[in-house]
Amino acid sequence: MDRISVKQARQKGAIGRQVIVQGWIRTRRDSKGGFSFLELNDGSSLGNLQIIAEAALENYESEVKHLGAASSVTIEGEVKASGGKQATEVLAKKIIVHGLADPEAYPLQKKAHSLEKLREWAHLRPRTNTFGAVTRVRNCVSRSIHNFYQEEGFLYIHTPIITASDCEGAGAMFRVSTLDPDKLPLKEGKVDSSQDFFGRPAYLTVSGQLNAEIFACSLGKVYTFGPTFRAENSNTSRHLAEFWMVEPEVAFNDLNDNMALAERFLKRLFSDALSQCDEDMKFFAEHYDKETISTLEQIIAKEFIHCPYTEAVSILEKSGEKFDFPVKWGIDLQSEHERYLTEKHFKSPVILFDYPRTLKPFYMRVNDDGKTVRAMDVLVPKVGEIIGGSQREERLDVLTQRMGEQHLRPEDYWWYCDLRRFGTVPHAGFGLGLERAVQFITGMQNIRDVIPFPRTPGSAEF
Ligand code: ATP
Ligand code: MN
Repeated sequence: MDRISVKQARQKGAIGRQVIVQGWIRTRRDSKGGFSFLELNDGSSLGNLQIIAEAALENYESEVKHLGAASSVTIEGEVKASGGKQATEVLAKKIIVHGLADPEAYPLQKKAHSLEKLREWAHLRPRTNTFGAVTRVRNCVSRSIHNFYQEEGFLYIHTPIITASDCEGAGAMFRVSTLDPDKLPLKEGKVDSSQDFFGRPAYLTVSGQLNAEIFACSLGKVYTFGPTFRAENSNTSRHLAEFWMVEPEVAFNDLNDNMALAERFLKRLFSDALSQCDEDMKFFAEHYDKETISTLEQIIAKEFIHCPYTEAVSILEKSGEKFDFPVKWGIDLQSEHERYLTEKHFKSPVILFDYPRTLKPFYMRVNDDGKTVRAMDVLVPKVGEIIGGSQREERLDVLTQRMGEQHLRPEDYWWYCDLRRFGTVPHAGFGLGLERAVQFITGMQNIRDVIPFPRTPGSAEF
């Protein structure tokens, strides 16, 4: 007798097999004919497996008739063709009950809790159809990320989570320290970090980019994929304090190569989700965003639009839209501007590039015009920015000048400068937020609902 998953048992090919299936009951329905229908789920698929439990089972009266939502069971039986809307069902020969759940006390007994309410029950929400589906899609996207880069010959680099460089200015950082906050060692009125664990201030990383560049500048094509942290106090539906980022970095790539890589990469993630998570995607289309599948299909079929920042600004200026933040050349585009461009103007994913140098970090390559840098952001409808990246500055003299502009000391980045000193190469890379990708694919509105345990200001219960 084989132990198989609900997903396997739901397939026609399983008919006739003697099997063991294990999981949690979703519902029980007693038939007048003296038997019960159980709906079993084990996380392997959205759909449940129908179990027929006959009164002849030795524990039918004592246990089976008490099974309800969340009860856990092992079932031995035969897979049969079903006359119902599902292809198969299992006729139980034995039902072992591991744990019952009191229907009066079980919070998910009553159907249809709001997503907000479910966030308070992060330990129970994986039991809902929605979070099962999100979890399977998130898994699929993670697998595709590795498959894509591995197939293209990239090396997976594990960049550190604790870092001493407050690089980038990508966002506010979390401090990592073993100093006792009640007895901080002071020197000239300031905390003396030389007495701290690393002998200097240390933080949780905001990006693995600078470390990835080190490897790209010797091994060619690399990517890092791991957690990143931003201590911004932004309570939006698209920001988390802890999120996962995948960052490819490629030697000898320029900005055009970088844009092409980003487009190919996103399309691969979208098409894998559509082909490998068919049942879950239909669920999202039915319950959350009826356009999600058609949007992804259209995006896969078309080329992304490329638009320089300067042109984007003039489109916005001529749009006649009332924006909360007025638009003029040199401003950091806000999400309202980004969404206007991708949703209303282009009605397509759009890659904005060549941003004003004053807006962007020191490591982005300066264009010949002196005013702009080779930065790019990929914008998609509903989510806005999904990818941010650039061609990196490979010229040491320009790099040190840019550091000066941004009040950074080249000595603090001596190792980063060394990459330009010894065999410098043009190179480029970008960062994709995993949760923004999953949000976009599923059509879930809030980023807190596409990560198992969201970390946001004031919230880290589980
Ligand atoms: P935004 O302008 O949306 O705050 P950013 O420009 O600060 O993002 P980058 O530093 O360019 O973000 O990071 C690269 C990618 O990481 C973004 O395009 C986005 O997909 C993702 N990302 C950035 N910040 C967050 C966050 N706080 N929560 C979730 N994902 C994020
Ligand atoms: Mn960005």
